[in-house]
Amino acid sequence: MYIEDDFIQLSALQHYVFCPRQCALIHVEGLWCENVFTVRGDILHEKVDTDSFESRGALRTVRGLRIHSTRLGIAGRCDVVEFRRASESTSGDVVLPVEFKSGQPKDDISDKVQLCAQALCLEEMLNTKVERGDFFYGRTRRRVHVEINEQLRTQTEEIISAVHDIVSRKYVPKMRYTVKCRNCSLYDVCQPKAMNERKLQQYMNTLYTP
Ligand code: SF4
Repeated sequence: MYIEDDFIQLSALQHYVFCPRQCALIHVEGLWCENVFTVRGDILHEKVDTDSFESRGALRTVRGLRIHSTRLGIAGRCDVVEFRRASESTSGDVVLPVEFKSGQPKDDISDKVQLCAQALCLEEMLNTKVERGDFFYGRTRRRVHVEINEQLRTQTEEIISAVHDIVSRKYVPKMRYTVKCRNCSLYDVCQPKAMNERKLQQYMNTLYTP
């Protein structure tokens, strides 16, 4: 069990999947820079991130719900959570987190991990089972269903442990240039193409060796 002071933000999981160093720069060093991708996401979330709810028939829609898990030590917000009362077609009440994304489905699992972490929080807070989560993608304006299966749960819990590890140890992994760096908002502060100390020393040696 974690105390509130040791909670990590759900956003840290996505940052970790994107790049562990980016995660550490943001959540250990406290650095943050905007780029076109972060601004697009912020604009979309401003539209949905309001504390409000509405009810229509058996469906109750809650926006901006704050969530946490003391078992996993995570906290954050859901863009939307839908609560649907049991009907003839369902075996019980359904709890469904819905996450809004500005772009389109990603190649990596970062979005799915974030959604699964939301599901794990809701399960702990509401003592229920969340079988599915949805994404609403702004670019395609379509909903995509994600099954919260055992494999995704395991991956998500492993990533949560890894983030707790680097945050508790205040460990910042070394830079390593990859194709992802081109889209990274922290490129300028990270300087992933800069020489590391060992390479710099080798270079200096070549300069001063007769
Ligand atoms: S620039 Fe590259 S190595 Fe540095 S934080 Fe971003 S993705 Fe990671």
